Order: sequence, then C-alpha cells, then structure tokens
Amino acid sequence: MTARILVVDDVPANVKLLEARLRAEYYEVVTATDGYEALEIAENSNIDVILLDIMMPGLDGFEVCRRLKSRAATAHIPVILVTALDQDSDRITGLNFGADDFLTKPVNDLQLLARVKSLVRLKNLTDELRLRVATTRDVGLESILRLPTGNDAAKFSRVLLIDERPESIEKIKRILGEECSVDVENDPQAGFFKAVQGNHDCLIISSSFAGFDPLRICAQLRSLDNTRSLPIILVADMGEEPLIRRALELGINDYLVRPVNPNELLARLRTQLRRKAYHDGLRASVVKTYEMAVTDSLTGLHNRLYLETHLATLFKRAVERRRPLSILMTDIDRFKSINDTYGHDGGDEVLREFARRLRRNVRGSDLASRYGGEEFFIVMPDTDQTLASIVAERIRREVASTPFEINNTGTSVPMTISIGIASVLPDGDTVHNLMKRADDALYGAKSSGRNKVVSAAA
Ligand code: GH3
Ligand code: MG
Ligand code: MG
Repeated sequence: MTARILVVDDVPANVKLLEARLRAEYYEVVTATDGYEALEIAENSNIDVILLDIMMPGLDGFEVCRRLKSRAATAHIPVILVTALDQDSDRITGLNFGADDFLTKPVNDLQLLARVKSLVRLKNLTDELRLRVATTRDVGLESILRLPTGNDAAKFSRVLLIDERPESIEKIKRILGEECSVDVENDPQAGFFKAVQGNHDCLIISSSFAGFDPLRICAQLRSLDNTRSLPIILVADMGEEPLIRRALELGINDYLVRPVNPNELLARLRTQLRRKAYHDGLRASVVKTYEMAVTDSLTGLHNRLYLETHLATLFKRAVERRRPLSILMTDIDRFKSINDTYGHDGGDEVLREFARRLRRNVRGSDLASRYGGEEFFIVMPDTDQTLASIVAERIRREVASTPFEINNTGTSVPMTISIGIASVLPDGDTVHNLMKRADDALYGAKSSGRNKVVSAAA
C-alpha cells in the first residue's frame, strides 16, 4: 500500500534521513523545511501522512499541527510529531493539539514504518468515507469536520478494558474513571463478545494473558463489520516490540508500554475517541445523504426512485414465494383547482396533510410513496385484491370525510381521491404490467366520476 508522506524538518539532514528510509519502502515523499511551507503543501498536494518536527523556527510543530487540525481541508490527515527528546510533556501537548502519534529522535526504523503503515491504513478508510460523502452531497460535512477537541471527546464515552491483572485493571480504572465509564472483562473470549455487541467507543486490551493470545481478538474484531473501526489500544510490556509490530499490522490503532503513564493514556484515548467521532459522523452523513436521495422532501414519504427500486424487490419475492401483493395508485381529484384558488403553498399543505392521512391508514410493512405531483403509490405485501380494496376504501373515506384545512385562510376544502388497485397475477406477471393495470384502473375511477376505488380485472 503506497502513500504520499510529507516530511517537515528545518534541518535538511534530518529530512534526508527520513526521506531515504521511507523511499526504501516505496513511499512517495514530499518535503518542507518550515511550517508555512508544510501547511501549503498539506492543503494542496493530497498528503496521506505528515511527519512533523516539533522544534522549528517560526511556526513550531505544535502550532503547525493545531492549524492543520483546525482546517477542514487538512483536519483528516494523520500527523506524527517527531520530538528531539523523549519528553513526556511534549507528547501530552502534541496529543492535545490533535497529533495522531509520536516518534522520538533518533527515529527507530521499526517504529517509523509501523506507525506510518498504520496511519496510512486509517487515512485510506477516511478518504473512502469522504469520497462517498463528496460524490453525493456535502451534507453537514463541515460540521462533522469540526471535531470535538481535548477532553470533550472523552466525556460520556464507554471504554471496554480486557485485562486479567487486578493491579493493572485498578490503575487503568483509576486513570479513566473521571472521564468515562470503564467496562472490565477478565476473560478475553467474553470480552470479544462484549466488543461485538458494539456499545463501546474504544477497546483497551492487555498484551498478555495466561494461555491466550490477545492478538487473535484484535484480528477477529478487524474482520467483523461492526467492530472494524472500533479503536483498539494495546497495553504492552517493555521488550514486546515484535508483538506490538504484529498488533499494528493487524490494525490496532495505538499502544502504550507499561508502566502506564496516566497522561499519555488519557491523551491517546482522547485521540482515538476524536477519530471515532469523526468516522461515526461521516458514516451518519453517508446514511443521511442516502435517505435524502430516496425521500420526498415535501411529504417525508419515500420518493419514486425508492418505490421503483423496492417494488422490483417486493414483486420478485412475492412471485418466488407465491404470496399475494397489491398496489394502490392514488391521484387527488381536481387538484389543479386547489393551486388555482389557494396558491402553490396551499396546494403543498394539502399534499402534506394527505400524506399524513395516508401514513395513518397503512401498515408498517406497506410502502407508501409519492410517485410525483399529486400521485401516490402504496405497495402492500401479503395483501390480496379483496383486502387491498378494503384498505383503499378506508383511505378514500378518510380523505372525503374530513375537509382539508388551509392555514392562514381559515378555510377548509373538501377533497376527494381516486384509487386504482392491481394485484400480482399467479403466472407470467411483470412489474411493468402490474403498474399498467393499476394505472388503467385509476383511469377507470377518474372517468366514472372520481372519488372512487376501482380494481383491475384479475
Ligand atoms: P384529476 O382529477 O383529473 O386528477 O385533476 P387534477 O387537477 O388533479 O389533475 P392534473 O394532473 O391535471 O393536475 C395536477 C396538478 O398538480 C398540476 C400541478 O400543478 C399540481 N402539482 C404537481 N406537483 C405539485 C406540488 O408539488 N405542489 C403543488 N402545490 N402542486 C403540484
Ligand atoms: Mg389529480
Ligand atoms: Mg395527476
């Protein structure tokens, strides 16, 4: 998996060193020697991961990181801060500025490649989601990109801790207890099932269990849909480098080495929670965009696109299972005169009220949709023509019996509708013919005086 890495350092020799190591792994490398240049490149050059030196004249690494994370165009690019010293306070500051990870100079090869690889993988997932949102419509993308920062991300979140050592559990609970709720599970297998149930925002898992390999859980969680993006933080012991490397390759998000530093644990957890909020937001936005594409905005009913897609599915299922299926095609009578008298807004009000009455008179399993203008379609699975006429008659009466109120005019107008019914025929029927029969039946209702229900001849 190749990627474009931006290396930022004011000392050319440091840039050269990192560049050479990354190129040897076939990464594409872009370089910058100060903060402004880095921001410019990050904004315009499709960067996947940024390696950022902290100590630079002018804008230092913290400030560059803060600016990157506060701009919509760059907030999603993972940042690895490169510190000169193994300074705990630098790490905490950096993570609070939104950095995704750290490396200490001199940079250890294994760590460099493991971190870059893991962040590139994450970036690909983010890109995919961003692309899906961008190709449909940017619904609320801006607000999603405004990530919760600092401590806010941890508030009310639920952490699952899988660990069997009492003193370690106590310590982690003590550190996290103030900010989030911690669910503890001693047994790895039971912990796995808890994680799959999906009520957690982050999993913290110990690296060692008597007689169990925790990496198996990590691998299993990464292969399941509802835990694929659950953040996983591994708590390892000193000297477990190979295990950490394998865990990162399996897709865990971060790790800590014991003894656990409270500030580092909190900061790393916050970073993961922030990232999760970002992904969840994007996902919700994708779902919302999809819903908008299949919903009629005036009435909130499904639209024609949805109807046509799902009628095909429901029709096929009915034929295969030899179950009845009926459709109602309804059209408001003399609707043009409503618009002519009360204006387009008055007409819209009538359409909304009609949709409400329609919704009240069909079952949850029925599919009510606005086909266009003042024509509505109801698809009723498991419903034969006799039952369908009873429902249709009920809807017709529901409309005719109570006049529709037009707000602001203080008047109510009597309305009527005409309905055509058709049901799936036992042999050789098609969706097209079914709809054609309903349409013909509707025409029959109109031409025989309106305010009527007519069934297609079986
Ligand atoms: P009929 O009894 O034969 O169905 O008569 P009609 O007047 O209802 O039939 P027609 O199909 O000629 O007119 C439908 C009207 O519905 C015309 C169009 O302006 C109006 N219409 C379509 N969509 C909307 C909408 O979204 N809002 C409003 N207010 N009117 C709409
Ligand atoms: Mg009409
Ligand atoms: Mg019409």
